[in-house]
Amino acid sequence: MSYNPGLSVLIMTNLQPLTFKGIDSDRPLIIAGPCSAESREQMLATASQLADSGIRIFRAGIWKPRTKPGGFEGVGEIGLKWMRDVKKATGMYTATEVANRLHVKKALEAGIDILWIGARTSANPFAMQEIADTLAESNPSEATVLVKNPVNPDIELWIGAMQRIYNAGVRRIGAIHRGFCVYGKHIYRNMPEWRIPTELRLRYPTLPILCDPSHIGGKRDLIAPLSQQAMDMGFDGLIIESHCNPDCAMSDAAQQVTPETLKSILSGLVFRNTCEITENLTSLRSRIDDIDNQLLDILGKRMEVSREIGRYKRVHSMPVVQASRYNDVIRSRVELGEQLGMDGDFLKTILLAIHDESVRQQIEISSNPKC
Ligand code: PEP
Ligand code: MN
Repeated sequence: MSYNPGLSVLIMTNLQPLTFKGIDSDRPLIIAGPCSAESREQMLATASQLADSGIRIFRAGIWKPRTKPGGFEGVGEIGLKWMRDVKKATGMYTATEVANRLHVKKALEAGIDILWIGARTSANPFAMQEIADTLAESNPSEATVLVKNPVNPDIELWIGAMQRIYNAGVRRIGAIHRGFCVYGKHIYRNMPEWRIPTELRLRYPTLPILCDPSHIGGKRDLIAPLSQQAMDMGFDGLIIESHCNPDCAMSDAAQQVTPETLKSILSGLVFRNTCEITENLTSLRSRIDDIDNQLLDILGKRMEVSREIGRYKRVHSMPVVQASRYNDVIRSRVELGEQLGMDGDFLKTILLAIHDESVRQQIEISSNPKC
């Protein structure tokens, strides 16, 4: 697509919710399935166990982007046929990853319901534009596209990737938070950096955001706590890797769980209706941030006056600390603070700390005539 400045102002103002016939839209959207499609048997066995546990959307990677060559790079097109078999056998919706024009065409032809864009692809504007152009030529108003965050913690790149899809005419767009790569070994395979999806939520309140605890955690034990955290933070759903025989998985074995384990993880989750709470909490927190800034500003002003007093004391050869004044200040402030509902000991601690710093600054001034 050639450059069209008019399009770049479309900033995802008309997104549609990710609803699916037969799936309760008041509950978090759950997508599950193996990291990779490996064989028809593995797909059907996993899918039927997932379907029995109530999962309605099946994921599997057909084309696998791998960090280094030589690993299992996906089964390719044959996997699309297995996806169709899964759909036929279980009635599940299907989702797969696309990274270029050919993938999009083939996946849409095969009737895949949801296309997702992986973290290595969303980091690449050329690939994103190629995918967007292919969607624009297909039937964009029917497509559902989920965009994973780019591997690097760059919210603008993530938003830009989604805007390209939006500009192609797709309205059913969702974001997937799958964590961010950093150098070295950490508890998480990919750091969650929760403030990034939180900022995305604030900037695009109608954009559904799913969490991918499998790729954030990188290990089975972390899936439950990460999923609960995502639910507590008001995420709209989860995409979790599940395999009928995880230890033998050809990719991401350490983070895949059996459908049975997945069922128990999901049944242990507390689904609070957090949307409103999260928004209220966010706005209360931003008020706290604002008040803290005001407190620091006022403290800075107080120290400035203190330094001025320090200069006066130096000129008039007065001692820095005058006990009677000090006691009066503490007593009167504690009294006032208690009337405002604060604890006396807490007030004393704060006032003494402020006084200590004030004295330190005055001593600095009295010993340094250049101040
Ligand atoms: C995947 O979902 O299997 C995958 C490759 O994920 P990501 O793009 O998040 O690494
Ligand atoms: Mn994976």
